[in-house]
Amino acid sequence: MNRNRLNVFACFAVGSASMSVAASAAAQSRTDQVRTAANTIVAENLMRDISYIASDAMKGRATPSPGLDSAAAFIVRRLIAMKVKPVGDNGTYYQHYTIRRANLDTTAAAITVGADRLRWGNDFLVASFVTPGVFAGNVVYVGDGLRISKRGVDPYAGLDIRGKWIVTHSGAIPRARAVRDTMGFDGVDYTTVLDEARSRGALGILVIPSSASISGWGAARSRVQAGRGELSPTVGRAYAPFPLPQITLAASAVERLFAGSGIAVAELMAADSTHRYPRSLQLSRTGKVTIDIAATSTNVEAFNVVGLIEGSDSRLRNEWVTSSTHLDGAVGRGITPAGDSIYNAADDNGSGSAGNLSIAAALLAAPRPKRSVLLVWDSGEETGLWGSRFLAYGPLADKVVAHFTVDMIARTKAPGSKVQGEDELSGPGEVYVSGPAVLSSELDSVLARTTRDYHFITLDRKYEDPTHEFFYPRTDAAPYIERGIPYMEFFTGLHGDYHRQTDEVGKLDPVKFEAVARAGFTNIWTVADDPVRPRIDKAVPPVLWFMKPK
Ligand SMILES: [Zn+2]
Repeated sequence: MNRNRLNVFACFAVGSASMSVAASAAAQSRTDQVRTAANTIVAENLMRDISYIASDAMKGRATPSPGLDSAAAFIVRRLIAMKVKPVGDNGTYYQHYTIRRANLDTTAAAITVGADRLRWGNDFLVASFVTPGVFAGNVVYVGDGLRISKRGVDPYAGLDIRGKWIVTHSGAIPRARAVRDTMGFDGVDYTTVLDEARSRGALGILVIPSSASISGWGAARSRVQAGRGELSPTVGRAYAPFPLPQITLAASAVERLFAGSGIAVAELMAADSTHRYPRSLQLSRTGKVTIDIAATSTNVEAFNVVGLIEGSDSRLRNEWVTSSTHLDGAVGRGITPAGDSIYNAADDNGSGSAGNLSIAAALLAAPRPKRSVLLVWDSGEETGLWGSRFLAYGPLADKVVAHFTVDMIARTKAPGSKVQGEDELSGPGEVYVSGPAVLSSELDSVLARTTRDYHFITLDRKYEDPTHEFFYPRTDAAPYIERGIPYMEFFTGLHGDYHRQTDEVGKLDPVKFEAVARAGFTNIWTVADDPVRPRIDKAVPPVLWFMKPK
């Protein structure tokens, strides 16, 4: 795309600083200059911008929607005014990507076992599909599929599931969340059938239904017939509750698959309530099973807004640091008792969107850092990290060496507040930071330095825990982590208005909003200007097994 265009820009040589008293004084004045630039970020401007971005006219900024287009046009007008370099498609600030909306072809979908053809609707349902197609492989039964190495529990022992269909039970699918209190953390203390299927390269999962899924069969079938469809990004690893095909079997299909296995169908169908699972085995008598997940698909266009502030160092300007946020909102349905039906998405994430504009302006007011800063307002975050996934797996990310995200940065819990849903909200003058302590010594030392030199806000590091759900994978940092890019994220915490019509501008704390944006800016600037490139240099936690260090 724009990689060739970048090369035509002239290189400016910059004199290297010598280690002297003069240099130290210069460094001191540089800190002062950066502080002065940080102080150009003021609550009044942030509140003015967010009042536009999170106004009713934007209708919640769903991806895609005319409201999101208007909000993006607002960001673009500002980037033009600031003379930020466009790095999107064809010299614009827009980087388009395609979302595929797939609808199952219910008459063509089929499971072929030997000479028998099992039919969608009667013998099976397709619960999830990311890639339609025809998949043939042997079938392996793994019980509840739960592996707990500490206790020596391994239903996969002696079995090869690569390129094969796994059969498990309905009760195994939600287990990851259900057992957290008693078993510890998914990916650390145990792995589920979903983790194992993904890491060992299974074709997909066939699910023996619980009595609840049998009673919901008719409703599930009608939803598909109504053409609800499934949206998925066309690039990168699909972020989905389950990124492999998942098929729910009726008793008729269970019977056909297990014929000659010596396991009684009644025993299998009752296993979710008895918690007695037959031993794992490959269904050798069944042979190869061909599953045709036939679907028709249509394309939906969406976009990220991207601009570049070029670095001052002729070599380091080719290493980019992102300043990223998501512009879209989570749009639900319903009306509050007060008659409000618009999901303004002010804190999530009008705050980050306005904050990122202020960070861009401060970067331009500061001494130009050595590295370039890629400014990003992405979309589709709320529907599955679409925009950041597209960007992180595309050519723009080849130059990215560190990722910064601001997502929900303007709410505060009143001291002593007992408001329901505010347990996870940070207090006055506090913000959560995640990323550096777990992954990168260099980012961690930058954070220590900026806190010492500027101290706009107190950091709460409790989310710097790889087993915490906000470490991974619920944010735009996830695709960057997958690519081995270290990150730093600022977040003021969840609250009762999260993803509701009541997430409005009037609920924000302008004082904290300003402080978090300033802290974000000073960290981005410092990493961008640091001669040392940040890397992931700490032991990669087991939950990040899929990561490819950069
Ligand atoms: Zn968000």
